Amino acid sequence: MNSKELRKKYLTFFEKREHKIIPSASLVPENDPSVLFNTAGMQPLVPYLLGQKHPMGRRLVNAQKCLRTGDIGEVGDNRHLTFFEMLGNWSLGDYFKEESIKLSYLFLTDKEEGLGLDKERIYVTVFEGDSNAPLDQKAFDIWSSYIDKNRIYFLPARNNWWSAGDNGPCGPDTEIFYDLTEDGLGDLDKDKFLEADACGQVVEIWNNVFMEYEKKDGVVVGQLENRSVDTGMGLERIVMVTEKADNVFETDILKSIIDKIKDNSKKEDVKIERIIADHLRASVFIIADGVLPSNTGRGYVLRRLLRRVIRLSDKIIFNEKGLTEVINEIIDNYKEIYPEILENKKIIEKEIKNEELRFRQTLEKGLREFEKGASPFVLYTTYGFPIELTEELASEKGQVIDREEFEEKVKEHQELSRTAGAPMFKGGLANTSDRIVRLHTAHHLVLAGLQEIVDKKIKQRGSNITEERLRIDFMFDRKLTEEEKQEVEDWVNDKINRSLPVVRKEMPKDEASLIGAEMEFGSKYPDIVSVYMIEDGEGNFISKEFCGGPHVKNTKEIGSFKILKEEASSAGVRRIKATII
Ligand code: ATP
Ligand code: MG
Repeated sequence: MNSKELRKKYLTFFEKREHKIIPSASLVPENDPSVLFNTAGMQPLVPYLLGQKHPMGRRLVNAQKCLRTGDIGEVGDNRHLTFFEMLGNWSLGDYFKEESIKLSYLFLTDKEEGLGLDKERIYVTVFEGDSNAPLDQKAFDIWSSYIDKNRIYFLPARNNWWSAGDNGPCGPDTEIFYDLTEDGLGDLDKDKFLEADACGQVVEIWNNVFMEYEKKDGVVVGQLENRSVDTGMGLERIVMVTEKADNVFETDILKSIIDKIKDNSKKEDVKIERIIADHLRASVFIIADGVLPSNTGRGYVLRRLLRRVIRLSDKIIFNEKGLTEVINEIIDNYKEIYPEILENKKIIEKEIKNEELRFRQTLEKGLREFEKGASPFVLYTTYGFPIELTEELASEKGQVIDREEFEEKVKEHQELSRTAGAPMFKGGLANTSDRIVRLHTAHHLVLAGLQEIVDKKIKQRGSNITEERLRIDFMFDRKLTEEEKQEVEDWVNDKINRSLPVVRKEMPKDEASLIGAEMEFGSKYPDIVSVYMIEDGEGNFISKEFCGGPHVKNTKEIGSFKILKEEASSAGVRRIKATII
């Protein structure tokens, strides 16, 4: 059974037992600003686990794309990945412990409908109890009817308790482990079991959470009326078990990706191969869900993954097309199950390539500066080195980076760059009404239109936006003709009608100049700037400008554009006033 069959088998198993299959949500949480990425199948379901009614009913099942940046340091061992798929089944106020454990046990061991795994290799942990809630006797009793009591262990809240915070539902969980060793470890006492877990001889494959208590201010205050079950099983891990692979990288999910890396390598380095495979796969999925490299938030996570790939690939990959081949292999592997990967193939390839180019422009110089003792902050602002990269470089030399000092500097810097960005649009920034935001984006389009239609060399010299109109001053030494004005107006309206995405990226100033982003002549900019870009849908940027924003997300929001007048402003400077309807 390969991974595709297993995924399907899991969904079908639960579908047959009245669960409705729901699609994977995006990696980017829709309504939860508290997390950057979904880290578990339950995350998109939190409102329903908290009591909201789910339109598909009370029994759900799916495979969910997950990303755990917290596990990045573990990537390279036999079982941790940043991106992975989580198979999950849920009961929203329907079945509880008895049925949940039975279903998990059945799926793992049943030879027909399940995976036919060896029950002698299963170990489980249950909650040992504390001041909040008693030992989970019920879970222990249910498990004892399936497996030997010697392989059930009681562990504290640290391991076997789930809660979303200080308030709301919470409860004990039971974790299911599988023995991967050739001969089987047999009965283990608790210490030996914990050791075997720590060194990856037994691996956690599944976690069933039983939400049965309610917490207020960090203390359990009672039982829930509507009890729920949330389970999660890592696809890569369970496939490692069924395919009897030593590690997740040798499963059919990742093996061909590792092989592609090997094909393009001049030397073997298992850890680097695994990190490249993991980080590139994660990056492909992140970009397909609409995130682009940047210096903050999700974009920064992506940048960090990609820049680590690029640096490590330089150590083993000899072939210039190496990374592209690996990316293609990843896209190929997933194009049927996650069509968004194929739909975004061009963007994925382009963004990774661009990030590589951007990074390469400064990588060598940055590495030299690092050798000379440059500070992490300088490496970050001038050479685009994510702090984690500098930390990695430092640790290779047995040095430690003062992370706090770095964060402090970045913060100071961001405050500076915010104020430095402010004067650019006096009318705009202080007052960000919907109309001003729309005019602001129209303003970027006018400049791009002038360069496209009238003269490539046109530079902006000043700007001002009010509720009524935008004003742009630009360096040019003659009056525009009627035709030119009309053409510019048509050009802008065409871009509006084509519903083009407007994206914001943060980057070092030098980098922004290198990619040709528009700066206003005579203005001063901080070391890290934000750049707004408008893409034409075919991978070309029709506008790139240093700018603090805000802007519309899509040009179609602007409405209809009209040039009101074109006149002289001062010697060598022309002025256009325009509006939107
Ligand atoms: P571990 O202690 O092994 O890191 P965990 O306790 O963090 O696992 P859970 O949060 O319970 O894992 O996640 C549910 C399931 O998701 C796990 O049983 C495992 O199968 C899978 N899983 C968790 N983290 C990873 C990871 N980094 N890579 C691959 N699969 C994972
Ligand atoms: Mg973990």
